[in-house]
Order: sequence, then C-alpha cells, then structure tokens
Amino acid sequence: MKALIKHLIPSRYVLWSRPRADKSIAITIDDGPHPEHTHLLLDVLAQYDAKVTFFMVGKSMQAYPEVVHAVHSAGHEFGCHGLAHQNMHHLKKFSEIDHEIGQGYQIIKQLIDQTSPYYRPPYGNLSWRVMAYCFAKQKTIAMWSVDSLDYLLARQDPSVNIKSLTARLKNTIQGGDIVLFHDDSGYCVDMLKELLPVLKADGFSFTTLSELHQSAE
Ligand SMILES: [Zn+2]
Repeated sequence: MKALIKHLIPSRYVLWSRPRADKSIAITIDDGPHPEHTHLLLDVLAQYDAKVTFFMVGKSMQAYPEVVHAVHSAGHEFGCHGLAHQNMHHLKKFSEIDHEIGQGYQIIKQLIDQTSPYYRPPYGNLSWRVMAYCFAKQKTIAMWSVDSLDYLLARQDPSVNIKSLTARLKNTIQGGDIVLFHDDSGYCVDMLKELLPVLKADGFSFTTLSELHQSAE
C-alpha cells in the first residue's frame, strides 16, 4: 500500500522526501521527549548547528513539559505524533482517530502555543481513514525516506552496532532526505555524534521539515 501511496498521493498530502540539488536534509526525532536523552541530543544538535523536527508523544510531553520547553527554546520544530502512540491500523472509528490526533495537537498548543502542518503516524502505519482525516484537517502526513534503524540498537539486535548503522547512513543519505531517529533511547545521540560531523564535512546542512518542504525542488 505504501508504494501505491508514494506514487499516487501528492507530497502536500503525504511527504516522503524533497529531492533537491543542494545537500539539505531534514532529521526527524520521534517518540520523546525523554528526561535525559533529549537534553543530550540538544547538545549534539547545537554543536553542529542542526535544526530538526521533533514528533513527540503527547502523553510524554505532558509528563516532561520542561524538556518540551527546552526543545522549543533551542529553535527546533514540532510535529504531531498523536496522544498515546496508538497503532492507527487499530483505530476504526473517526472519533477514535480524532481523539488520538486531535489531543496530540491540543497538547502542543497548550505547552508551546503552536500548531503544525505535520502529523506522523506511529510506526508509519497509514490507513485510508487516517489519510482522509488528515486531508480534511489540512495536515500533511510526514513520512521519511531514510530510517536510521536506531531502534534495532535499543532492541539489542546482535546483527547491528552503532558503527555499522552510521556507515550505512553515510552511504545512503542524499540531499532532500527525511531521516528518522528516536530519542526514547539514547542511541540516536551516539549515532548523531558520529554522523553529523561526517555529513557536515561533506557539505550537508540540517534543516527543519517545513524548511525542506517549502523550498523549491
Ligand atoms: Zn513513534
């Protein structure tokens, strides 16, 4: 279904990447905030002048509002990742979808008085119902073109390590990519410490999703 959506649905509705000649990429950070890892991540991002887009879980935002404010003060962008990280394939009723996504937006509004044009479904699980909801609400569904696979490190998957995953990203990332990381574990901090200096030396810059999206192709 995803391949079909990629080909059929314009990027103002479902965004996967923004191919371009220069070397700007949008790093996106899902599933936080976390009381320790997110602060460490902010330090690494500041060191390499990287602005990124956070897709935080609404309930975690309520649990750690001070972390949300630190991210906001550092100039990063916020998108909506829902209230409780629900698998959207399981929500069949419009009222359930409206509660999960609408409450996620409400918490962003309450904490930093912002809204966002972007919603990212947990696990990247798209359904026609969720797409219809987002189209009606004029939200762009923000997917990604490169998955860092950092969650495999959190799962202690023996087939990967930080070096191998980082090397894979160095060889994969191109200008216009939207890259997926998670800060509910600390592995994204370790990976970005390795990756950002290499990409920066190679001419890459790190921008928010909306800047990448709005720029000319
Ligand atoms: Zn998530």
